[in-house]
Amino acid sequence: MRDDALAAIKAAGDLDALKKVRLAHAGDRSPIALANREIGALPPQARAEAGKRVGMARKAVAEALAARQTELTAERDERVLVEEAVDVTLPWDRLPRGARHPLTTLQERVADVFVAMGYEVAEGPELEGEWFNFDALNIAPDHPARSDHDTFFVESVDSGKVLRTQTSPMQVRALLARGVPCYVISPGKVFRTDELDVTHTPVFHQIEGIAVDEGLTMGHLKGTLDRFAEVMFGEGMTTRFRPNYFPFTEPSAEMDLKCFVCRGASAVPGGPPCRTCKSEGWIEWGGCGMVNPRVLVACGVDPKRYSGFAFGMGVERTLMFRHNAEDMRDMVEGDVRFTLPFGMEV
Ligand SMILES: [Zn+2]
Repeated sequence: MRDDALAAIKAAGDLDALKKVRLAHAGDRSPIALANREIGALPPQARAEAGKRVGMARKAVAEALAARQTELTAERDERVLVEEAVDVTLPWDRLPRGARHPLTTLQERVADVFVAMGYEVAEGPELEGEWFNFDALNIAPDHPARSDHDTFFVESVDSGKVLRTQTSPMQVRALLARGVPCYVISPGKVFRTDELDVTHTPVFHQIEGIAVDEGLTMGHLKGTLDRFAEVMFGEGMTTRFRPNYFPFTEPSAEMDLKCFVCRGASAVPGGPPCRTCKSEGWIEWGGCGMVNPRVLVACGVDPKRYSGFAFGMGVERTLMFRHNAEDMRDMVEGDVRFTLPFGMEV
């Protein structure tokens, strides 16, 4: 048993192998340990001799293990020094430089489209007053829409502050700060108590637009969004409105984008089926409508003289459409393998 153990110790090529050898030849269930346990069962006159021999064998194995351990540790340390050496003289600029996130660059590109149409870009606080996030937008405390927004409240709950659930408070802020006429686009982060999964994230981005002036109609809204769709997705891309309800616009509409894959061809009878739009020809993109006169009044604007429209859409969703990004988690995990194909735009 001793010779077996010594041979195995000698043959162990690294610390992992030695660990296995230690377990097999010196562990609680090793042959020598079992022999040691058998000594008590021997006739009394044979015990001393057996004890001595087993004891010597255990000592020899323990010493060999310790010696091999020292040897292998030294070898490992030496190897690590060579293998994991850092050459601080290598040129540093071989590391790829970081770049802004595609969500950021997309938000700026969207803002550019509206700046070209005469809009200003405005940013608002992410920690928002409840009055701006809800009340001023015609969402009273007992309004069902208030509980639909899975809101993050801030301590203390009676502080009147929330993490904004939408960028729409910017409609109110823009009107209060600038008065009329007012043409503002406002990209930014919003927060909802959603779990992170393929299509949800608790922090996401919206782009809010508002225009208030004399004589603005839903036709202006449609024209503006059609132009936006074309710049974002190419010539011939349009939007369609479906009646909907939002407290802060009246009338309100869901805004669909013509399917950017089949371009509506799948909805024509006999057309090829399309997975992206489920052959409906359209995909939901955002919400919009004419600014509710009650919002105008809350902002000190005379609704008899002025009218306006507002719209909002998700930036993540727009990125998904434009770049075929299918999993929203990719957008928040910070893996450069996701962001690299978007280019190193700074
Ligand atoms: Zn389609």
